[in-house]
Amino acid sequence: MARTELDHVTKVYAESAGSDVVAVDDVSIDVADGEFLVLVGPSGCGKSTTLRMVAGLETVTEGEIRLDGRVINDVPAKDRDIAMVFQSYALYPHMTVRENMSFGLEESTDMPDDEIRERVERTAETMDIGDLLDRTPGELSGGQQQRVALGRAIVRDPAVFLLDEPLSNLDAKLRGEMRTELQRLQDELDVTTIYVTHDQTEAMTMGDRIAILDGGRLQQVGTPLECYHEPRNLFVAGFVGEPPMNFFEVNLTDGALVGANFEYPLSEATLADVRGHDELVLGIRPEDVELVVGDESRSSGGAETGHDFRTTVDVVEPLGNENQVHLRFVRGDGADEQGGRGGATAEGERTEANAEELVATVSGMRQVEPRQDVVARIPEDAIQLFDRETGEALHNRELESAEVAEPNP
Ligand code: ADP
Repeated sequence: MARTELDHVTKVYAESAGSDVVAVDDVSIDVADGEFLVLVGPSGCGKSTTLRMVAGLETVTEGEIRLDGRVINDVPAKDRDIAMVFQSYALYPHMTVRENMSFGLEESTDMPDDEIRERVERTAETMDIGDLLDRTPGELSGGQQQRVALGRAIVRDPAVFLLDEPLSNLDAKLRGEMRTELQRLQDELDVTTIYVTHDQTEAMTMGDRIAILDGGRLQQVGTPLECYHEPRNLFVAGFVGEPPMNFFEVNLTDGALVGANFEYPLSEATLADVRGHDELVLGIRPEDVELVVGDESRSSGGAETGHDFRTTVDVVEPLGNENQVHLRFVRGDGADEQGGRGGATAEGERTEANAEELVATVSGMRQVEPRQDVVARIPEDAIQLFDRETGEALHNRELESAEVAEPNP
């Protein structure tokens, strides 16, 4: 078990054509002893390179990697006391499970044979593969092979456990089971773990904290809920969450956000956060959009504060437990959606990337039909605001005070 620090770590691959690839750019992450940290980001963002530098399989171009305070940049991989599990199980096909699991201990330690046997059997029990010890990998299912690969790494009792997309070869159901199992195991063993995945669901559900990378740069490190509710920038806001956050390009005009399809007045408190920034992006998570019908839309807060919008249901995606409802804005002047399409902002210019569509998630029991007219309420306490140019978050949603009504400005 060990604290693992990445201190301003950069990796540059020198290409033969002369152009360099900055795969990892000035990344600093401090992984606490016993912590489960998930490194997540789209393909090519530098996750594997980061992990491979910690493992000692890649050199570090700049910066330091420390294990319990000791710099390990130049320590060979085999002397790092780190175990790594890859996406491909890489088990020796001609060896039994027992031999696969014993091999590393026999090669790299002076442990007596009976102690190795005892340890392998104990680990095999923990991993629920005790009855498979005498089989070869060819006689195992994919899930069992993955368990053996994990067991082979765990049996070494490493200071740090590195996992590179270890579940991506498994089918969805098994992946879900292994996710839970890995979490339980990590909790039991209390071993510092860095887990790489491109799958934000895996990151959200498994990590004590997640570190989000894009283009080799660290975007945010935080608990899953921090990254979800308080994203530091547009990238994190859009990457975390499924279905993704709705985004609208808006301009701040006379205390209101003016988009292609709507005008959204802001309270003084929110205005204070965005002062000095005129070109913004408004974000709202699908589950925070409320669908109100009939009189309800006029009877409560939304209508008075201008946070209710006329929409038409475009498509409903039923998932059983919830419906994902795709809505189109209907313009306030009564024009239909086609009118909205050609809409102009207050400045008279059409913002190209602006979404016409708004996705709302509602309970699966709720009946929503295509072409139905509904009022979509976008509560101010749930909105996120970003600077359009830099992507920086200027205002995050409220967390504790969600029940408390906004005082009238
Ligand atoms: P991820 O694991 O997030 O998919 P990688 O760490 O594998 O990303 O790659 C990050 C970037 O570095 C990519 O642009 C990739 O093409 C580049 N890269 C990775 N390995 C090498 C290499 N050995 N030589 C040159 N470029 C590389």
